[in-house]
Formats: sequence, structure tokens, C-alpha cells
Amino acid sequence: MDCLFCRIVAGEIPATIVRETATTLAFRDIDPKAPTHVLVIPKEHYVDVATLAQGAPELAGEVLQTAAVVAEEEGLTVDGFRLMFNTGPYGGQEVFHVHAHLLGGAPLGPMLC
Ligand code: 5GP
Ligand code: ZN
Repeated sequence: MDCLFCRIVAGEIPATIVRETATTLAFRDIDPKAPTHVLVIPKEHYVDVATLAQGAPELAGEVLQTAAVVAEEEGLTVDGFRLMFNTGPYGGQEVFHVHAHLLGGAPLGPMLC
């Protein structure tokens, strides 16, 4: 298995897990870009959000639901947060197992580019 996030799902690589459901996993980014930076993934391997949304829309919804619950648990819902999917090389995606970045805990300013 050469997918980093599949290896985290399998427990082969350690991660700080903040929430796990039957189909999704949320864990802290190893190099946080904000005071709170959590990655939310489906346990099943999909390359990117477009593939996930078209191939398994229900699972895509479960990823969003897990992200929303973690946002609440991390205390981000009052001041707000950013939820984003980098997609493909031009989108800045480096790990090709779809993941939502949940960022918050400080003003993030305008959209990053
Ligand atoms: P991308 O650029 O693909 O949207 O984001 C990949 C994210 O994965 C980056 O924010 C990076 O810091 C994070 N990351 C890379 N390797 C690891 C790892 O081994 N463990 C964790 N927890 N995060 C990782
Ligand atoms: Zn994977």
C-alpha cells in the first residue's frame, strides 16, 4: 500500500486522531497552517473530492458531516472556520487520497492562493 493516508487508516503510520466513524477519519495535520488544522478523510481510498463526490456522494456527505462535528468539538463554530479540498496539481494537492482541510482558531484572512 503506497498511499500515506490509507496507511494512517490501517494504523501503520501514527496520527493524532480526533474523531473516527465507520467510514471516516479525522486527524491533526502534521504541519498545521492554523491553530486548529484537522484533515478529514473517507477511510476508503478516493483520489480527490471530484472523484469522491461523483462516485460516492453519500460518503462525501459523511466526510462533511464528520468535519462539521469536529468543527463543533474544536470550538470553531462561533467564530467560523475554513473547510477546503485541494484538488490536483494546480489545486496544490500533495497527498492523493481525498482530504478536507478544517482550519480555524484565528482569522484566516482572504482565500489562500
Ligand atoms: P494537500 O497539499 O494534499 O492538500 O495536503 C496534504 C496535507 O497532509 C498537508 O497539510 C500536510 O502537512 C499533511 N501531511 C503530510 N504528511 C502527513 C502525515 O504523515 N501525517 C499527517 N497527520 N499529515 C500529513
Ligand atoms: Zn489512500
